[in-house]
This record gives sequence, structure tokens and C-alpha cells, in this order.
Amino acid sequence: MKESDIRNPCIHERYLELVREDAGAFFGDSSRLEDTPCPACRARKFRAEFVKFGFTYGSCEDCRTLYVNPRPKIGPLTDFYVKSPSSRFWVEEFFKPVAEARREKMFRPRAQHVAGLLPDLARETIGDIGAGYGLFLEELRRLWPEGNFMAIEPSPEMAAICRAKKLGVAEVMIEDLEGADGSFALLTAFELLEHLHTPETMVRKAFQLLKPGGYFLATTLSGEGFDIQVLWEKSRSVFPPHHLNFLNPDSLAGLCRRAGFDVQAAETPGVLDWQIVEGTLQRNEAEVGRFWATLSRNGSAEAKQDLQAWITKHRFSSHMRVLAQKPSS
Ligand SMILES: [Zn+2]
Repeated sequence: MKESDIRNPCIHERYLELVREDAGAFFGDSSRLEDTPCPACRARKFRAEFVKFGFTYGSCEDCRTLYVNPRPKIGPLTDFYVKSPSSRFWVEEFFKPVAEARREKMFRPRAQHVAGLLPDLARETIGDIGAGYGLFLEELRRLWPEGNFMAIEPSPEMAAICRAKKLGVAEVMIEDLEGADGSFALLTAFELLEHLHTPETMVRKAFQLLKPGGYFLATTLSGEGFDIQVLWEKSRSVFPPHHLNFLNPDSLAGLCRRAGFDVQAAETPGVLDWQIVEGTLQRNEAEVGRFWATLSRNGSAEAKQDLQAWITKHRFSSHMRVLAQKPSS
């Protein structure tokens, strides 16, 4: 997979410029921000690392999660997602043109992964939290035609798209989904945790909504991932107030365990880290350190592939995934 398959670099740049403007327009007034404990472990041992778009990122000294603190209060954050030009732009300009490429490169492999991993759930009720265009559920339905699929999607526009695809739709924030406790065999949340004011609330709600023995599968960004560690505040993945939380495989597993889950796997299947760093270097966007510049200039394709394989294998990719199970009794 190439980074350019799933993101148009020019549109990406314009998007990030809009985010910077929105950050000032919506959160220039500090009364809209509040102090927060670590979103993974609740500790209050915050060590400031850098400021971006006016927001301070720092690390938890207990679990190493990287997070924005102070962060937008929940009301202003929701308002931001509904009204900000950058949120609209992401849907209309950024996502739509690459939606079909993303279906093929990201959502279909995800569905194949789930179907291979949990074949016994083929006739069960599956929910996707923050389902967006419903691409994951559509792809999973092709593999599991007898399953029951529910898109949990608060945006009216995207909920309508999911309905048109004949998916079940709950047009609410997951926290507000009532009357469905214990009804799902699998809940998925792709690229969602990094956006949330309080990830723990969502993870605990997922636990409630699952049947005993049900599974929670989430992907998010790891703050200990290669490209984020190398690029740090220059990383294009670090853009507040959209991306507030960068957990790591250990802190994400810890969060799931505290909510009551047994963690089956916390891994980093990502494959784009090296390309992201090399792309930044080629655009002259940031210094990446002498060794990585040397590798980019003089390293063979095989050397770069081996590096990426090592990053993925040893849980140092910025794309991470957790599979957690609600105990059966
Ligand atoms: Zn922590």
C-alpha cells in the first residue's frame, strides 16, 4: 500500500491548514478548555512535550500516553465536529475522492481480517462505532451475508448514507445508545479513540453493549509509533483538536482491562511508517535526523522494507489494533 493511495498530499495540506485556522477560531478562548487526567490510565503525571496549533501535548509519566492537556470541553468539542470547516472538508474533499481506494486498501482487508479471526460470529449482531460511510460493514456483509449489521453514527449525513446501504443505523453517539445492552457479539471502532474527549467512556459503554464472550476490536494511533516518534510535533498525524489521544499498545491494553475486558492482542499492523517519514523528508517539511536521511538517500528498497517489517513486528508502528473480549461469565 502507498500513502498516496489513501491520502491526496495536496488536499491533505489544505486540510491541515484549515485545522490550524479552526483550532484558533474555536478554541482561542481558554474557557472552552479544561484540565484532564491521562485518557488511558487517569494519572495526573503530565509532562509537557510541545505545542501545536495552540494546544499543548504531553506524556503521561505512568503509561507514556501522549495527549492534549488542557483539552476542549465536551460541549465545545462536539460543536467543533458538527460546525468546523475542517470537519466538513474532511468528509467532502478529503475522504470522498479516496473512498473507493480506501474501501479496497483498508476496509476490505479489515473485513477479511475480522472474518478470518472470528468466524463463529458470521450470523451475529455486529456494530461499528463511528461507522462513517459504512464501508467496513458493507465489506463484512459481503463475507457474512447472514449477519445483522448496525452502523452507530451520530452525523445525520453519514447515517443517511448508511441507511441507503440498507444497514441498520443508530444515529447517536455511542454513549447515548439505549436499550441495547448485552446485544452485540462484536463492536468495532476504527480510528476513533484518538478523537474522543474521554476514550474510557466509550470503551466502558462498548463493554456494556456486548454480550458475555463478545469482542471489541479497535484501531487507533500509537504515540510510540515510528513516524510519530521521529517527526513528533511535525507529524501530520498530530493535529489538534481532532487528534487528542495517542495511546500505545500497553496503555490501550491497560484501558481495556480496566473496563473489564480480557485483552487478546495489542499489536501494530501498520505498514506506512517509513513511507510517511520518507515523504516528509522529500517534501522538506522537517528534519528527521541524520541516520534516517542517510537511509532514505542510500538505503536499498530491501533495507527499507526490512525496517518496516521490523517496526510492524515489534509494535512500533503508529497504526495499532487491539482485540479484547468480554468475559463469558
Ligand atoms: Zn497514563
